[in-house]
Amino acid sequence: MTIRLPAFDYLTPETLEDAAAALADPDRSVIIVAGGTDVVPKMKRRQMTPEVLVSLSKIESLRGIRRDDEGRCVLGASTTLAEIHGSSLVPEVFASAAGDVASPQIRNTATLGGNLSLDTRCNYIDMSDSWRQASGYCLKDGGDTCWVAPRSNKCWAISSSDLATVALALGGSVKLTSVRGERMVPVEELYNNDGIAYSTQAPDEILVELVLPKDCGRATYQKLRRRGSIDFPLLGVAAVVSFDDAGVCASARIVVGAVASAPLRATEAEEFVVGRSFTKEVLEEAGRLATQSVRPQDNTDTGSRYRKWMVPVFVEQALRAVADTSE
Ligand SMILES: Cc1cc2nc3c(=O)[nH]c(=O)nc-3n(C[C@H](O)[C@H](O)[C@H](O)COP(=O)(O)OP(=O)(O)OC[C@H]3O[C@@H](n4cnc5c(N)ncnc54)[C@H](O)[C@@H]3O)c2cc1C
Repeated sequence: MTIRLPAFDYLTPETLEDAAAALADPDRSVIIVAGGTDVVPKMKRRQMTPEVLVSLSKIESLRGIRRDDEGRCVLGASTTLAEIHGSSLVPEVFASAAGDVASPQIRNTATLGGNLSLDTRCNYIDMSDSWRQASGYCLKDGGDTCWVAPRSNKCWAISSSDLATVALALGGSVKLTSVRGERMVPVEELYNNDGIAYSTQAPDEILVELVLPKDCGRATYQKLRRRGSIDFPLLGVAAVVSFDDAGVCASARIVVGAVASAPLRATEAEEFVVGRSFTKEVLEEAGRLATQSVRPQDNTDTGSRYRKWMVPVFVEQALRAVADTSE
């Protein structure tokens, strides 16, 4: 069965100012479309029914990757994931994670801004409208029950952006712009652990660029998914670690993605590993600590227990990967 798109107006502003003005329209529901790899399926399923789509495709200033005067990597929001994957200017861990998103066809179209602004996902909402109507609309869909956790008044839809997890671990910041002006926001403050209000970005704000620090330390991203050729993460662990000359951990940022409505820092595990060498026992304890605060739900491919079991495995795997590069 073909599912048709609902009717909408399509605007293609050529400047950021015009795009921001179009998004500030108080009389109509307006959203941004970049690559459309998430927006279009959602519109077909009637999860999004905007009256106006504002395409960023003609705004040249949103494209490209450069190093600024301080050596930081600045990535324009409309840069495609394929371009990021192929760029030598981008920290290796970020380029590699971009290459692990979806499939080659999607990466040729999908953008960084769309990835970092990705809506949360859940088995109960990523379905056709007729399916959702028949089973009863969930909390995120305007209903009054979360079908994942019916006694919860919170939506448990999952953050599934691979690059949000890595950008957070790297200590990145994003530039947002709207008719009210520009602001820089650390990626750490960009997300809420709430499946509905998952972003601190206002609906009329355009993500302009991501800035990644010059020195990232040793970094890795370990992604669990069913099919390596296309699937969303069931779990993603990013670790960015530095060591002193004696091989003792001097700093650590460990982020666990795709198990909550936002990528989460495993702060207890981070604090535990600093000042220690990465022995087998230390890695095991870090994995255990990182798992404590994580509560995956049964709202994606595979059961929640399996995903919870895999958290310590992937945290250990990530820490081993950054330790190994010192050899
Ligand atoms: C089969 C399939 C597999 C996928 N697998 C993965 C995966 O493994 N990992 C993963 O992370 N994602 C995955 N995705 C999701 C999606 O394709 C990517 O996240 C992609 O990067 C989204 O980018 P886009 O440009 O297509 O976004 P769009 O669909 O255009 O937009 C997505 C959202 O971001 C907003 N937006 C877009 N650009 C901006 C901007 N500059 N400023 C503010 N808001 C903006 C839009 O309004 C919309 O809400 C998958 C999708 C499909 C269909």
